[in-house]
Amino acid sequence: IQEKLKKSDTLNIVGELAAGIAHEIRNPMTALKGFIQLLESDLEDEYGMYFNVITTELSRIESIITEFLILAKPQAIQYKKANITKILQETIELLNAQATMHNVLLKLKAEVDLPEIYAEGNQLKQVFINIIKNAIEAMPKGGHIYVKVNQKDQKYISISIIDEGIGMSDEKLNRLGEPFYTTKDRGTGLGLMVSFKIIKEHNGIVNVESEVGKGTAFHILLPQHLS
Ligand code: ADP
Ligand code: MG
Repeated sequence: IQEKLKKSDTLNIVGELAAGIAHEIRNPMTALKGFIQLLESDLEDEYGMYFNVITTELSRIESIITEFLILAKPQAIQYKKANITKILQETIELLNAQATMHNVLLKLKAEVDLPEIYAEGNQLKQVFINIIKNAIEAMPKGGHIYVKVNQKDQKYISISIIDEGIGMSDEKLNRLGEPFYTTKDRGTGLGLMVSFKIIKEHNGIVNVESEVGKGTAFHILLPQHLS
């Protein structure tokens, strides 16, 4: 996984370029979405199916753009004291509906009185969203996702996200974080690349364990102090 973190270095320039283009695409996209929604009410039933395809594909373009935008160096990135437990709680609240739809139960186990860490809260939230979403998508039969946070030592806070999903072979595990690597019909293959980049920028460490048919565990170490 350290290797994976290095890979994301070379992507910085690509990322900045992509972000420029992504910004340009966003505005016409907003117009498109708005007008298509207006059209929906006038549509004849037989066109309903086309309408669904159009809106699904538009959302797909949107999520690709969102992920690309995170790749670019944020203009004024603000590392502030952040309550990691609160960030995880908010993430879980955000994903609870989606989890329930997939018969997945999200469980948070947080050590009490954890020290605050220096972090960009929104970026960290994006990381946890990406990883937990993947976990939900890896559990077609449902199950539990355990999110654990505790103090590892004087330096690091440890966050683990453990699923009971389909797991990954070593080949797949090795490709995590590669741009556009996806095994999903409607995947972007960008979520983990973006996540690894954010963790790296926080001077953090990621470790992934997985067993086919058993599940996957993402272990993230974040330093309490940057520097
Ligand atoms: P996407 O979700 O769009 O496919 P990601 O970068 O988020 O892109 O993930 C890349 C790939 O890694 C996924 O397509 C999947 O094959 C694999 N993966 C990620 N997380 C898990 C997980 N928890 N369990 C099984 N496979 C996973
Ligand atoms: Mg994903």
